[in-house]
Amino acid sequence: MIKQKKQGQLIVVSGPSGAGKDTIVNKVVENNKNIWISVSATSRKPRKGEVEGVNYFFLEKEDFEEKINNNYFLEYAEYANNYYGTPKEKIVEKLEKGIDVILVIEIQGAKKIKELVPEALFIFIMPPSEKTLLSRLKNRQTEDKEKIIERFNIAYKEINEVTKYNYVVVNDKLDEAVDKVESIIKAEKCRVDRIEEMLVANKEEIIHEFLMEEDFDNSTISEKIMEEK
Ligand code: ADP
Ligand code: 5GP
Repeated sequence: MIKQKKQGQLIVVSGPSGAGKDTIVNKVVENNKNIWISVSATSRKPRKGEVEGVNYFFLEKEDFEEKINNNYFLEYAEYANNYYGTPKEKIVEKLEKGIDVILVIEIQGAKKIKELVPEALFIFIMPPSEKTLLSRLKNRQTEDKEKIIERFNIAYKEINEVTKYNYVVVNDKLDEAVDKVESIIKAEKCRVDRIEEMLVANKEEIIHEFLMEEDFDNSTISEKIMEEK
């Protein structure tokens, strides 16, 4: 009766560093094979265990700037003295194949995407408390004290932007947060603005076929009463 848009959904996930964005998004993608996480480029140095082309494309600052000038990025921003950007090339291809695309990006980049694609879905991941955020940053053991404080300071600015997003998910218990993000994505698929076409079949034809079905008793009530006698 309806034809829904085949195009994938563009999903933007933001939130302070340490809120659990990557942890949540990786689990969502594990559970849903039709979702792809865009791999960003960055001028930050790789952390222990990070793999080129999987976590990020790691670039020198000059190479990143060259790519900015070549219009390589859909959006880019500076965060904690490093560049981060979303390569354009694969996004449209994936969306056109009907695959949902998740961008895990900070708030300036999200703002840019909102201007470019207002119908994208914007989800903000919030830590349960400020102290929990700080302890998650510490326990992750990926930044030194100074860098943790820098990220914690940025977090206060980011949290103020939450109302610009469509949804906020508090990441207290991980499974619950993952479930909420999955539910939001599922619900989004049912929005009426994803209806591309209304396909109304011919009513008379359907009724006619129904009445012609062999096992259908076509006798009227009075005929039935007469038969009873
Ligand atoms: P982000 O991508 O937002 O910077 P991460 O996904 O790297 O955050 O998570 C930060 C740290 O917090 C990681 O060590 C991760 O294992 C941990 N973490 C994430 N979600 C939870 C949670 N719900 N409960 C406890 N620890 C969590
Ligand atoms: P991290 O150094 O912790 O990997 O990332 C720092 C911040 O940069 C996080 O908020 C992360 O979501 C964001 N980020 C990662 N990739 C991109 C990107 O392509 N564009 C923008 N604008 N932010 C990004």
